[in-house]
Amino acid sequence: MDIKQLDQEYIVPTYARFPICLKEGKGSCVTDDTGKTYIDLGTGIAVNGFGVADEEWIAAVTEQLGKIQHTSNLYYNEPCAKLAEQLCLRTGMKKVFFSNSGAEANECAIKTARKYGELHKGAEYTTIITLKDGFHGRTITTLAATGQEVFHKDFLPLTDGFVYAEANNLADVERLASEFPCCAVMFEVVQGEGGVRPLSAEFLSGLEKLAHQKELLLIADEVQTGNGRTGKLYGYMNYGIQPDIVTTAKGLGGGLPIGATMLGEKVSTVLGAGMHGSTFGGNPVCCAGALNILSRIDEVLLAGVQMRSNYIFDTLTNAPGIKSVTGLGLMIGIECEKPAAEVIDACRERGVLVIKAKHKVRLLPALNIKMEELKQAIEIIKEACAV
Ligand SMILES: *Cc1c(COP(=O)(O)O)cnc(C)c1O
Repeated sequence: MDIKQLDQEYIVPTYARFPICLKEGKGSCVTDDTGKTYIDLGTGIAVNGFGVADEEWIAAVTEQLGKIQHTSNLYYNEPCAKLAEQLCLRTGMKKVFFSNSGAEANECAIKTARKYGELHKGAEYTTIITLKDGFHGRTITTLAATGQEVFHKDFLPLTDGFVYAEANNLADVERLASEFPCCAVMFEVVQGEGGVRPLSAEFLSGLEKLAHQKELLLIADEVQTGNGRTGKLYGYMNYGIQPDIVTTAKGLGGGLPIGATMLGEKVSTVLGAGMHGSTFGGNPVCCAGALNILSRIDEVLLAGVQMRSNYIFDTLTNAPGIKSVTGLGLMIGIECEKPAAEVIDACRERGVLVIKAKHKVRLLPALNIKMEELKQAIEIIKEACAV
């Protein structure tokens, strides 16, 4: 039996996979099990920020693997403490809770916000405003936080206490904040799964003001936008706002599962002993990998992200068959005249891996992709989009 057959026989069919099996690679070049190579502009959905088989990251991870692979949270461990320190030093946040995924990072943010509302505003102040077309995860509670009906319908009842505002519509947030006993607003600065749609600077600064007036926490879901993806360490840093809680995952571990919930001053003492936990959270191998990744997201790398981003926007905007190019940094959505699936298939056949976000083609290349690989891939995308 080949891999595709084996998978289809035994894996729960929740994923519509592309018809290739990735086997190995180097940087932004990946090879499938037939030996065909591709330039990868998907990076495992914004996870492999420095591409695949990155030597520095492998060294950091394997060094830790050779010492101790897991400790549990019954004990202190060095990579975990050091990673939390780095995250706080680089964001100004005060405390970090580690988990294993984006959904879990958001679960922790939601628990913290509810507890904060109860403590500081009153027992009923537990409602969280999120944005339509947002995406916050697949657990029952993060699905409830996700303002997209399509994800909800098969799994009702979901967790109570979420209301949805139109993205970029401050009046709508204001209305909900008056109608419901709210503790927080949660948002992605660029809605990733929702179609790579950036929030406007106006909306975000208005949101920050409103949050101060109404005593609402600002929760930035930086699971996809974080860790250099948008040209800043975290996406909110493009907008000059200061969230109270920042969640991240995907790119933080460089390919190993890790989630982080960063808590600012206001909420840094909300959670106490026994109130939250995770067996694998703060795993030393994942944290050692993340420490290496974080140490390399510096000003030079970020300038390179911006330069690559400008190249993509300049080359694709107004190209034949392309209706719009949206996004921030190396998180880019292309609206094509052809159906996105058709463009994605054509790219793959010509050796370029791109993914989908709603009706758009989504690019999430490695932050350090070589310019010649990027140029080659963008030419192929351009050809595939042309009608
Ligand atoms: C991917 C994603 C999540 C969910 O992360 P998982 O690791 O799949 O649980 C949450 N929020 C955003 C913005 C995401 O892009």
